[in-house]
Amino acid sequence: MRYKKVSGEDLENLRRIVGEDYVSTDEDELAANAIDAFPGEFHMPEAVVWPGNAHEVARVLAYANENRIPVTIRAAGTSLSGCVPLYGGIVLNITRMNRVKEIAERDMLAVVEPGVIYERLNEQLSRYGLFFPPDPGSAVACTVGGMVANNASGMRAVKYGVTRDYVLALEMALPSGKLVKLGARVFKTSIGPDLTRLMVGSEGALGVFTEITLRLRPLPRKMVTALALFDKVTDATDAVYEIVRTGLDPAAIEFLSRKTIQAVTQFRDLNIPDADALLIIELHGRDEHVLEHMRDVERILERHGAFHIKSAEEEGERKRIWEARKGAYPSLLRISPSPLTGDIIVPISKITDMVAKSYEIAERYGVDMGMVGHIGDGNVHHTWFADRREPGSWERASKANEEIVRYAIELGGAASAEHGIGIEKKKFMRLQHGEAYELMLQLKRLFDPNNILNPGIMFDLEDVMAVELP
Ligand SMILES: Cc1cc2nc3c(=O)[nH]c(=O)nc-3n(C[C@H](O)[C@H](O)[C@H](O)COP(=O)(O)OP(=O)(O)OC[C@H]3O[C@@H](n4cnc5c(N)ncnc54)[C@H](O)[C@@H]3O)c2cc1C
Repeated sequence: MRYKKVSGEDLENLRRIVGEDYVSTDEDELAANAIDAFPGEFHMPEAVVWPGNAHEVARVLAYANENRIPVTIRAAGTSLSGCVPLYGGIVLNITRMNRVKEIAERDMLAVVEPGVIYERLNEQLSRYGLFFPPDPGSAVACTVGGMVANNASGMRAVKYGVTRDYVLALEMALPSGKLVKLGARVFKTSIGPDLTRLMVGSEGALGVFTEITLRLRPLPRKMVTALALFDKVTDATDAVYEIVRTGLDPAAIEFLSRKTIQAVTQFRDLNIPDADALLIIELHGRDEHVLEHMRDVERILERHGAFHIKSAEEEGERKRIWEARKGAYPSLLRISPSPLTGDIIVPISKITDMVAKSYEIAERYGVDMGMVGHIGDGNVHHTWFADRREPGSWERASKANEEIVRYAIELGGAASAEHGIGIEKKKFMRLQHGEAYELMLQLKRLFDPNNILNPGIMFDLEDVMAVELP
């Protein structure tokens, strides 16, 4: 596939679309858009373009499509799977489009531009007693558009579900320059194939979201959080099954392994005794019943050998407990400068097997590793320690991660639960989807016949070029 380089004339035409100030070829600006939170790839674009509205997005796409210029869509750049301009061209940076257009309190929905930051949206929604629940670890920075593109989720998915469960409607710009509207402002429809849900998780391969209509939930009135420590990781994973099975409907069940506990204790000034596993459990509700239910959770934790349990109702104390979880990834980054972050998910009956296998793989490859994750839904992030400056370090981490991904798929799980495929996980697409992978490639060709959108992200360009439309 041959793409056209961005010329001086192209820059002039792009400036006519978005305005003089919103096209840049400045080296620092290009470098800032050449890498994201995945430390594996750095690729310079030829220009960065910041559209201000849906029509500008559509016109930039139409121009790039006509001229065969690759376009990489970028929001906050917190992707841990890698979404950078592998083939140069334009980075379409969506962060200027960051307005909350409407909060419809009675309909319990919000209409937003894609560049709005998750936490800012929830700050605004809290004034109405509403929230958009998925709560990724990157909440302070990531955008709603990036979340929809990756079907992101987080600490509360075990109770509230994932981004896909909240997207009611989308406006989307296609590579042809057409703007299409999908879905409706209601919680359910029966009106043919659900293209809205299909687009969630499409990682910018099929089009650019320019407006998103989100379903909202009432903020819970009462929350109680518990932290528990275990000497044996298997005791912790056994407790997880029981809590999920009893119908206590936890809003979060989070897990930290020994290495992660040590990192967070060292760097976050938290006084946590040494342990093999840490669980954080949170319950949400309307009233005092939540406290009774937490007593049931504590009994389960005790029965499974937790040697330290602390519950908190007061906000400051709850925040302190959450600090252990929210500080986990940044603390691990202090030990390992360029780690490979995994995102596997397994059926919850297989969590214990998966954790045991993880330790066995880490030892075999001689790679240090911390685990942290949304264990209530079987989703664990391995942080495989690596330093790209050290020969062989990244390769060892990649091989170890590859083994645990293959094992997760074998167990009936998936290569990614919430971070998306990006550049890093596309090698698992065939293994994950079998023959259905061909259908996905056909879909890509149908929406983006000239392969201008996010080339090399999620799908290998060679695979897309090789597939025939039926
Ligand atoms: C410290 C840390 C913790 C994290 N924790 C979590 C977590 O708990 N749960 C979780 O799910 N993720 C987590 N992530 C990963 C990441 O934050 C999410 O995937 C997030 O949704 C990405 O949003 P973004 O705005 O940064 O998008 P980007 O990284 O800029 O882009 C992500 C993808 O979305 C596409 N995209 C962006 N905007 C649009 C648009 N308008 N239209 C079409 N495609 C678009 C991009 O092309 C790219 O493929 C974490 C990341 C970090 C660094």
